[in-house]
Amino acid sequence: MKDWKLENRTDGLPDMPVLRELDVLVVGGGSAGVAAATVCGRNGLKTAVIEKYGFCGGAAVAGMSGTICGMYMASDKESHAPEQVVFGFTEEFRSRLAARGGVTEPQLYGKTFTVTHDPLVWREVADELLEEAGVEVFYHTAVSGVIMDGETYKGVIVESNAGRSVILAKRIIDASGDAAVVARAGGEYFFGDNGVIQNPTMFFRLGNVDMDTYLEFYGEDTICPPKVTEKILALNASGEYSLPRHKIWIFPTTRLNELMVNATRLAGQDGRVLNVIDPVDFSEAEIFGRKQVRDYAKFLKAFMPGCENSYVVDTAVEVGIRQTRSIEGIEKLTNEDVVSCRKRSDGIVRTPWPIELHSGTKPKLHWLLDDWYEVPYGTLVPKLGENIIVAGRCLCAEHEALASARVTAQTFEYGHAAAQATLLSIREERRYRDIRGEDVREHMTQAGSRF
Ligand SMILES: Cc1cc2nc3c(=O)[nH]c(=O)nc-3n(C[C@H](O)[C@H](O)[C@H](O)COP(=O)(O)OP(=O)(O)OC[C@H]3O[C@@H](n4cnc5c(N)ncnc54)[C@H](O)[C@@H]3O)c2cc1C
Repeated sequence: MKDWKLENRTDGLPDMPVLRELDVLVVGGGSAGVAAATVCGRNGLKTAVIEKYGFCGGAAVAGMSGTICGMYMASDKESHAPEQVVFGFTEEFRSRLAARGGVTEPQLYGKTFTVTHDPLVWREVADELLEEAGVEVFYHTAVSGVIMDGETYKGVIVESNAGRSVILAKRIIDASGDAAVVARAGGEYFFGDNGVIQNPTMFFRLGNVDMDTYLEFYGEDTICPPKVTEKILALNASGEYSLPRHKIWIFPTTRLNELMVNATRLAGQDGRVLNVIDPVDFSEAEIFGRKQVRDYAKFLKAFMPGCENSYVVDTAVEVGIRQTRSIEGIEKLTNEDVVSCRKRSDGIVRTPWPIELHSGTKPKLHWLLDDWYEVPYGTLVPKLGENIIVAGRCLCAEHEALASARVTAQTFEYGHAAAQATLLSIREERRYRDIRGEDVREHMTQAGSRF
């Protein structure tokens, strides 16, 4: 696989127009980028966000991951009601969605709960928050290079169909999910478990479902009951179908008679694990994903009560990417931190979400019961380079740990943390690596986060 490492790094100012000179540039408008840019902007920093699509949301919207996981505690107790433990920017965004009818009440997901959001309302809420915070947004613009002065990040080269230009910034928040900025500068990163990363999934929405009949059969739990898995296995064994994932998840949405389906499992046509940072693998995932959506939709129409007259409303804009690059940070979230529910004085978010590992034919779930762990601040700070911090799923975490720490309640709060660190860094002229996680946590608490 080809990577961009070092090929798009420029030392010194290239001969190109300077589009903006900023306090903060946020690269990527996913959940982490929207949080980071909003918090920087509302605190008076001259901030812009660049996003390669024409809307914000990233994996949550373009990838249609569709739910805000990671807000509620998991439990085995019989009378287990939703207990929210993550607040701050996550709760601000959830309540804005709720005010527009764009998010469901908590829905059962195994031993915990999640909420399903509307992808259109998500985009509108993000636009509204960024506008209110005075953040300038450049849609349809992508980072293609990095401007460095030795180890210090000075800005980026951006590319749109208008051409190439430069954005200079005192600080850069890499919220690209793929560590696009860090990688182009030659920063250190790794892929999953010795290069093996989690499967991508193509989401789809199914319309015209008779919800009462559906719910009576499927039940309230969004993780499919064993009878659905058994049916898939039997159909596969008979040769009638070839559905590679046996445990599927289905979420009623905020729209009338509509379901959102998380069912596909995408590997290469030759069975290899796809690495979607590579356009060859990414394209294969998109094409194969659309085909697999039709297979699962056919299965649901034929065998899921209530879905007899259903149709595919749409697939995600892009195949959902769970994992690509993880940076090497000054701290690493370990698998042991997660399973032992380790609390930290420098923790910047609580995480009660299970390890939800998508590899093989059945996603593996390791529950954290009646407890959570905390993600340390240093996981956002790259080992190498100054004036750069990451936010979102490219934080420094071991493979299984990331399979828990990557969900949206947490990625919002990573963005919040990166913004609070940026405010401290600029106001006190301190390097990110010299900022104490405890201070970031304190500022997050003042802004509504809970620990
Ligand atoms: C299949 C799947 C199912 C999931 N299910 C759930 C779920 O049910 N609930 C849940 O909470 N989470 C779920 N997740 C996880 C969650 O959606 C993501 O981890 C989270 O949204 C990541 O947010 P982020 O901001 O870190 O990155 P992203 O959402 O990936 O955002 C990165 C943004 O940066 C932009 N970008 C990238 N490179 C560039 C560039 N060079 N220039 C400009 N812009 C760029 C991208 O377009 C994107 O908008 C799922 C993820 C997947 C893939």
